[in-house]
Amino acid sequence: MIRLTDIKLPLDHAEGALEAAIRAKLGLGKDGLRSFTVFRRGYDARKRGAIALIYTLDVEVADEAAMLGRHADDKHVQPTPDTSYHFVAQAPEDLGQRPIVIGFGPCGLFAGLLLAQMGYRPIILDRGKAVRERTVDTWGLWRKRKLEPESNVQFGEGGAGTFSDGKLHSQISDPHHHGRKVLTEFVKAGAPEEILYVSKPHIGTFRLVTMVENMRETIQSLGGEIRFSQRVDDLLVDTDADGKRQLRGVVLNDGEQLLSDHVVLAVGHSARDTFFMLHDRGVYLEAKPFSIGFRVEHPQSIIDQARFGSQAGHPILGAADYKLVHHCKNGRSVYSFCMCPGGTVVAAASEPERVVTNGMSQYSRNERNANAAIVVGIEPKDYAAFDDSGSPLAGIALQRALESRAYELGGRDYSAPGQLVGDFIKGKPSAEFGQVQPSYKPGVHLTDLAPALPDYAIEAIREALPAFDRQIKGFGMHDAILTGVETRTSSPVRIRRGEDYQSLNTRGLYPAGEGAGYAGGILSAAVDGIRVAEAVAKDINASR
Ligand code: FAD
Repeated sequence: MIRLTDIKLPLDHAEGALEAAIRAKLGLGKDGLRSFTVFRRGYDARKRGAIALIYTLDVEVADEAAMLGRHADDKHVQPTPDTSYHFVAQAPEDLGQRPIVIGFGPCGLFAGLLLAQMGYRPIILDRGKAVRERTVDTWGLWRKRKLEPESNVQFGEGGAGTFSDGKLHSQISDPHHHGRKVLTEFVKAGAPEEILYVSKPHIGTFRLVTMVENMRETIQSLGGEIRFSQRVDDLLVDTDADGKRQLRGVVLNDGEQLLSDHVVLAVGHSARDTFFMLHDRGVYLEAKPFSIGFRVEHPQSIIDQARFGSQAGHPILGAADYKLVHHCKNGRSVYSFCMCPGGTVVAAASEPERVVTNGMSQYSRNERNANAAIVVGIEPKDYAAFDDSGSPLAGIALQRALESRAYELGGRDYSAPGQLVGDFIKGKPSAEFGQVQPSYKPGVHLTDLAPALPDYAIEAIREALPAFDRQIKGFGMHDAILTGVETRTSSPVRIRRGEDYQSLNTRGLYPAGEGAGYAGGILSAAVDGIRVAEAVAKDINASR
């Protein structure tokens, strides 16, 4: 196969135009082109009046070698790379101890799936419930203001991304095409085929639920075991005479001990109690930068118009997204994050009497509002104002303080505190909604958001919003709504691991995914799960 890249066609091109473009590019006459498939389809919307589709195509021609020879100097005509997945190990027949995976979010799910596919029959533990029961609990907060601390947006089967927009793009370096393996498995589990070729694939929350269930069944059919409502509360660690530490197993919340020398730790960024336990047990971890801010909501039509002009609403383009960044006078950077076109703002707390926002959408992305986090980067030195003990967990103190303050500002009933953008910029409390109705459930309490974040963050966001309006006309509209707070943009800690993927000071413990600071999003967490599963499999085989 030959891969053609950067084939540009107008948005509304005729059906036969793709084939004609291939023939023109390769100088093919009537014969010679056997078949072609679309590997990737993106768009270039920089010129709103002339939005173009950009294709990457895999083409089969009669004489491939000759064709490649004729285009040897053209970087857009190359042999198609092998992006299929090749297993790195196979479990021995007498496996003995089974590896354990803690957490059944995207990272643990893919670590577990890969281990199961290689024959290692993993035991997977998640503190939360199976996804259907978890959905009921999650809606309990959104509808009835009742938070279940062990079963919510953050905890339970499928992990944090289950109630999300299901965006599946990532900018990680992926030389072994593990991202392709993730997308292929998602399609097998029920995701739409188009995620394999559109440049910014998304699944939406509704389909994710069924997919997660299907993947659970696959793991079980391969001999894996998945246990819900099983929280890991402690580690069993042996220390030898030289002070070297080897993990021997885990202790569950009901006291049960599970022995294994290979444990994947994929607990996500909200497992704060687990981070404290790891620290108490001497596992090496360090404070890591993350970001704080608010969610902003605009009418989706404003974003579509600004990005696509007269092509707004075109079915191929769908609801428009955006990515914004502004470097502020006070040295901080403000950027948009986790943008959810045509979606809703969701209550994403996992601890009582705290409020956190996030965003999700359905596959159709056809809700009235666009939302995104507008956040300010912060660093470990900023955490000292909330915990000056020098602890690597100081970022958690900051998160907790801001989430508690948001709970207070929201009226102490899980409503999110909110303010109109125009009022926020002027420093005036809001009293009434305007053109934009907020989507956050159970409700938004209008107030002054200035006390919700440290002064430097408020100052930075006040400066950034008008700057963003210059990039997306209408972004600074008076009636757009800010709700808060965003504190869980990524993990506040990094659980460092070596090149063998094992904890720097605790052999047998494989920190992975977003909670360990090695991923930021569904796709990158899943890819990290694959990498760690490969490392575990190789180590099990090598240690026999
Ligand atoms: P998690 O998904 O957080 O999974 C960790 C799991 O570990 C949880 O199920 C938890 O119950 C379990 N656990 C924790 N502690 C323990 C313990 N002690 N014992 C046993 N189990 C434990 N990313 C995107 O790429 N695209 C999006 O559109 C997107 N939207 C999002 C929307 C929302 C509302 C949220 C909250 C997040 C969103 N994200 C999105 C981020 C994405 O969900 C995360 O990056 C991703 O889920 C991280 O995967 P993970 O497996 O590392 O951790």
